[in-house]
Amino acid sequence: MKAIALFSGGLDSTLAMKLIIDQGIDVIALNLDIGFGSTKSRKAHMQNMCDQVGAELRILDIKDQYLKDILFDPKYGYGKNLNPCIDCHGNMFRIARDLMEEWGASFLISGEVVGQRPMSQRREALDLVTNLSETQDLLLRPMSAKVLPPTLPEREGWVDREKLLGITGRNRETQLKMAEAIGLKDFEKPGGGCLLTDENFSNKLREFIKYDTLEVSDIGLLKYGRHLRLPDGAKLVIGRHKEDNEMIEAALTPKYLKIRLLDTTGPVGAIRAGATKSDKELAAKLTATYGKSRPEESYKVAIGDEIFTVTPYDSKEPAKKYFINT
Ligand code: SF4
Repeated sequence: MKAIALFSGGLDSTLAMKLIIDQGIDVIALNLDIGFGSTKSRKAHMQNMCDQVGAELRILDIKDQYLKDILFDPKYGYGKNLNPCIDCHGNMFRIARDLMEEWGASFLISGEVVGQRPMSQRREALDLVTNLSETQDLLLRPMSAKVLPPTLPEREGWVDREKLLGITGRNRETQLKMAEAIGLKDFEKPGGGCLLTDENFSNKLREFIKYDTLEVSDIGLLKYGRHLRLPDGAKLVIGRHKEDNEMIEAALTPKYLKIRLLDTTGPVGAIRAGATKSDKELAAKLTATYGKSRPEESYKVAIGDEIFTVTPYDSKEPAKKYFINT
């Protein structure tokens, strides 16, 4: 007997897998990458959790499908920010269901706990997710199973319902006790969670789509740096520190031109290719302003193949009016 678990790397989904593995069932921990994970890599963490409970980790990239089908047209709307959690979960379970036959799995599990999250884990929301994903009673939620109707794996006796839990609400006491009892280590997730639940990031994303069509390759650049919108409409990103600079360089696509200070040190920037000359000149001046520069001197700034000679502003104040309001 084999089950596919929707796996986020969090404590609840790890414990849910453990409850099922302890019943002699193989579990594949499926992590679906929608592209909006935090900037910290969580792969090592997910592997560590799976190793500790004996699940097999598989990560699938669904960024394209998520942008095309879910993010901008969710049937059940958004949470507090641009997070369409009900549709997102429904989509994930539908994908998992479609993989069941190929992967030889008989049912699905998740770490969802009734009433734990305001939007996606209310009891009605769990039912919506089940309906959206058309998983019917193939979807077992081991952490809250005893307060939910028995699913097929329980009715058929593949899983002993008595050994599952009936947790509800936000209190994590039972989970922490269970983690301690099984000796689970390092289970706190590193870094933040899904960026779509982050107010600043959601505002940046909303602003972006007023000017441009969001493609998967645009997501990387949205995660780093200061974001400015210039008078003729070009998007400018300026690194705030070394990590930003490295990540901006790594995230550059043909849609953007790299900005470099040629005769002093300072941030790396990126500007939308096709920006007007006047936006490029301003971008060069603003990038120089954030570099190691003096206002009375002029500096050469490369934007793609073009070189601009600019004098920086005497303070960072003038940049503020271009900041995207996050
Ligand atoms: S928090 Fe993000 S990844 Fe999780 S269900 Fe909501 S939108 Fe999807």
